[in-house]
Amino acid sequence: MLKTTHQSIIKAAQKLGLDEETIQALLKVNKAHQFDILLENGASYSAYRVQHNNKRGPYKGGIRFHPKVSLDEVQALATLMSLKTAAVGIPLGGGKGGITVDPKELGKHELEELSRKYVRGLHKHIGPDQDIPAPDVNTDAQIIDWMVDEYSQLTGDTSKASFTGKSLGNGGSAGREAATGRGGVMALKEFLKLEGREGEPLTIAAQGFGNVGAFFALVAAEECPEWKLVAASDSKTTVVDKSGLNAVNLADFKKSRRSFSEYTSATLLPSEEIFSVEADVLVFAALDNAVTSDNMDTIKASVLVELANGPIDEPAESYLLQKNIQILPDVVANAGGVIVSYLEWLQNRANETWDEQKVNTELEKYMKQAVDAMHQYAKQHKCSYKGAALSLAINRLV
Ligand code: NAD
Repeated sequence: MLKTTHQSIIKAAQKLGLDEETIQALLKVNKAHQFDILLENGASYSAYRVQHNNKRGPYKGGIRFHPKVSLDEVQALATLMSLKTAAVGIPLGGGKGGITVDPKELGKHELEELSRKYVRGLHKHIGPDQDIPAPDVNTDAQIIDWMVDEYSQLTGDTSKASFTGKSLGNGGSAGREAATGRGGVMALKEFLKLEGREGEPLTIAAQGFGNVGAFFALVAAEECPEWKLVAASDSKTTVVDKSGLNAVNLADFKKSRRSFSEYTSATLLPSEEIFSVEADVLVFAALDNAVTSDNMDTIKASVLVELANGPIDEPAESYLLQKNIQILPDVVANAGGVIVSYLEWLQNRANETWDEQKVNTELEKYMKQAVDAMHQYAKQHKCSYKGAALSLAINRLV
């Protein structure tokens, strides 16, 4: 993943005519913290926090608990965060953290101990003006609440602006849970408007129906009646209904932790068949590297929306662009989460609590601006949307 991230940055930076020294400085991380966490039960875990770039503001980025977490992955994600915050114009930098652990193997008490010890190992390097972590894969508001409490005990900070993604009663922001999916709907709507396709009936397929995929579908169903969700997948199954799936039913179904293989109200296909379903738009809301040289020729949709981070690898991207398939890139399309995180941080610092409508209005402002700028740059410089978003971000970072 680090290689792909670096390749995309180098490609965009070379197009901008940047010299080798400037490009290397862009790739370099400012600090990489790495330490072991020892639990009372004797188990030991590798922990990381990479701080890539803080030229535009404090480092910002999630903390991932996953068995595959490595220094390389955290470094790639930290680098992408610097580009994302720059691409959408929020005054923050890029960082990322993680622990190599399968949290499903831990009891609640051990999970709390792990979360608190992560903060003990890092508290001197993070904070409201330095580095503001947030949740990511397998970390949630409960884990962040423990971390904030630990940070307050260690430093005396009572602002709660040290982390975002807190629970609502503990300084969290309204609208945060839905923000990435909602931001994806806003990005697609704005893109279609700029392409002169506003209000056009569209069929949509969504790969992944967790937080991001489900909220994308729910918000779309509410706000864009001209769009029809015709397929959705989880890791085992694709559910298809050409006459339209009910997003609320699907979201409730997944919330009850059931697999789509048990869904009886639609046609069921293997998971990977989501790409071959006839749909105008394909939304990626599962994992990275979903499309590679192995399956790139199965894609049917003409517009792809990257809500997952890095769902299309470099060779597949080049192939799809050659086929005139339009790709809304992750650095802009999935930035809703970090934008509302920024809004949470602003609320904490000003000791304010905004209602959801205000949060969504602010989110829309940032999403629209980012899509407009990316679209304009791509047309002007005859490049891909990813190339445009990265170029704009790099220009703001150098
Ligand atoms: P999640 O764990 O809630 O959901 C992911 C879903 O993908 C799960 O339901 C899982 O069953 C499904 N999945 C896994 N492999 C699959 C496969 N091969 N085919 C179809 N589905 C598969 O995670 P999430 O928070 O919804 O995040 C989804 C993606 O979006 C991740 O790549 C994440 O990094 C990215 N992202 C999330 C946020 C956020 O705010 N949550 C922000 C930016 C980017």
